[in-house]
Amino acid sequence: MSVTSAVPEEILQDTYLIQGLMVAAKDAALYHGVLMRTVEDPNSSEMINYAPFSLFPSPVPENLFKEAMDVQKDFNLLIDRVSQDQEFLTKALESTIRVDDFTAHLFEIYKSVRDEGIRQNIILGINRSDYMFHNGQNDKPTLKQIEINTIAASFAGLGSRIPDIHRHVFQVWGKPEEAAKILKCEAIYRITDGIAKAWRMYGSEKAVIVFVVENVARNIFDQRCLEMELWRRNITVLRRKTEEIYQRGILDTDRKLFMHSRVNSQVGHFLLRLFPPVQDWNGRLLLERSRAIKCPDIATHLVGTKKVQQELTRPGVLEKFLYDNPEAVERIRATFVGLYSFDEGEEGDKVVAMAMAEPEHFVLKPQREGGGNNSFGEELKQLLGSLKDSPERSAYILMEKVTPLPVVNYLVHPGVPPKLTECVTELGIFGVYIRRCGNMVINDCSGHLLRTKSTEFADGGVAAGVAVLDSPYLV
Ligand code: ADP
Ligand code: MG
Ligand code: MG
Repeated sequence: MSVTSAVPEEILQDTYLIQGLMVAAKDAALYHGVLMRTVEDPNSSEMINYAPFSLFPSPVPENLFKEAMDVQKDFNLLIDRVSQDQEFLTKALESTIRVDDFTAHLFEIYKSVRDEGIRQNIILGINRSDYMFHNGQNDKPTLKQIEINTIAASFAGLGSRIPDIHRHVFQVWGKPEEAAKILKCEAIYRITDGIAKAWRMYGSEKAVIVFVVENVARNIFDQRCLEMELWRRNITVLRRKTEEIYQRGILDTDRKLFMHSRVNSQVGHFLLRLFPPVQDWNGRLLLERSRAIKCPDIATHLVGTKKVQQELTRPGVLEKFLYDNPEAVERIRATFVGLYSFDEGEEGDKVVAMAMAEPEHFVLKPQREGGGNNSFGEELKQLLGSLKDSPERSAYILMEKVTPLPVVNYLVHPGVPPKLTECVTELGIFGVYIRRCGNMVINDCSGHLLRTKSTEFADGGVAAGVAVLDSPYLV
């Protein structure tokens, strides 16, 4: 791919023009509500700023964009089927939960609700599959999955507004035809549709939706986009922390969940918007036991772990789950890179040796979310060196490193002067599905998200302050 920017080099170098576009872009971001609370005051909306974004859209190969959209329904189906296979999940996570407390807690809740019996047969899944464009042989980039997020897949709200900023920037620059080429993004509406549909299926007009939120709510405006869309459809949304749910929530004999704070506020449905996921295990258990529709339920949450992602790449696993759809198996497998387990024994020892020999070709990942947890290069070597022969190494997985061709763009971070930056992009595709008992009622590919970060950083998302929100310019 020769195109590294959506705009010509002379424009990128025109400081006067860029400065003008920056002013216009920042105001457009504020105007369109691309907002974030500040690091200093993450729980107050008294002082807010724009969320970091890129000045221009970044080039994305059109064929790979299409490929990512086309494979999303396959991933929805795969995740949903894996979530129903207790034997597979138990075996896949066995070694990890022995050494990783966090996953062990999740698994304990999973087992306990299974043993008790699950009261809700409607499943709502909202996930986001993330990809990079690997620069392989023949200079032809290929679509490679980084991970799939089954919990708190965020930025559909703010991401859907980035095209408005980019369109405006192109108009101010004097390129209305280019502006018209910028992709619309409807992720927020599609996801709202899915949530509203699940709410109707719950079958009570009075049921409320609870967003289970974290203590620090810097990214609240992204969540508000979803909340406001639901309110617009006359669906009541409450925001609650897990500890509040535990303290104030009541399960009746039918395991309907009620919130103390409002009369009649039966919880029809809750969405885990936590980033990182819930630490308050009692609250999570209460939610999980209830009749409320969970998004995600604990099984689907577990399917989103890095360990399960790795287990899915073993020979025969995709074929087992998608036995009725060999084309889906092909589409999915084409997006995989090498993923390796450190499980005890000779196989795991070989993986350690392989990573130690060429650390620059791999990424070491623990079972965590939200960016900034992975190790690369020298750091990987040191960490793995210290874990080497201990069972603790099973808390991690090893992944082949994807090496995209860089693009250039201006990353707009509050308070940081404009600087032309070499970056890599990561494309996310949202998927929404609803299953009732054995029937898929909805299986939807629900829009995209582009995030871009400086090549200076190997890891880190928007929430971690590294990546910015972007939009694709198809080339
Ligand atoms: P998280 O759940 O924390 O977002 P990810 O697996 O998405 O974990 O990793 C975080 C970031 O690390 C990604 O956004 C990407 O920038 C980088 N990264 C992860 N895996 C790879 C990989 N295989 N090759 C290159 N970069 C990667
Ligand atoms: Mg993740
Ligand atoms: Mg990620």
